Amino acid sequence: MSENTAALAGIDRNEMESHVKNLLVENKLFVWPVDLINLATIFGIRIVNATFKDGGTSGLINKSAGRVTIFVKENSDPFSKRLTIAHQLAHFFLHMKEEDCTYEDQRIDMFHQAEARNGIGESGDRIEAEANYFATALLMPRDLVAAALKKNIPLYEMARDFNVSEGAMAYRVSALIGT
Ligand SMILES: [Zn+2]
Repeated sequence: MSENTAALAGIDRNEMESHVKNLLVENKLFVWPVDLINLATIFGIRIVNATFKDGGTSGLINKSAGRVTIFVKENSDPFSKRLTIAHQLAHFFLHMKEEDCTYEDQRIDMFHQAEARNGIGESGDRIEAEANYFATALLMPRDLVAAALKKNIPLYEMARDFNVSEGAMAYRVSALIGT
């Protein structure tokens, strides 16, 4: 794994898990599968399919004149799109300030650092590590995963329930069990 441990070490994981849980509970979305579209809608965020000039771009979030839009690479698979939306929502909840801005990401997955252009060096790494962690927690909230594990729901069923790939589900379960 090429996870950036230096950047991840700066993240308070408990705080991040609580942040996500509170957000979902407050908006009555603390059930699996987490309804990302509804969450975005509640915050006035538009989600649109896009074809990017740079074929390597998987998604971006843009704030312009107060309007926030997430653009998702049109011809990617449903799980990738869901992860991209979760990652861009993470930028919205964690990193967006008052002024207009854009976060753009290349390949996003939970296992590696997203290759992004959102800053250079440590601050850029940290922003992406935070967005990746938040996205994982958003797609598979810790307490909901724990509840599923308590019921002995098989991994493939959990993946289906949370609407994520089996690889992502396995990664999340092992990370939570290991900590
Ligand atoms: Zn990003």
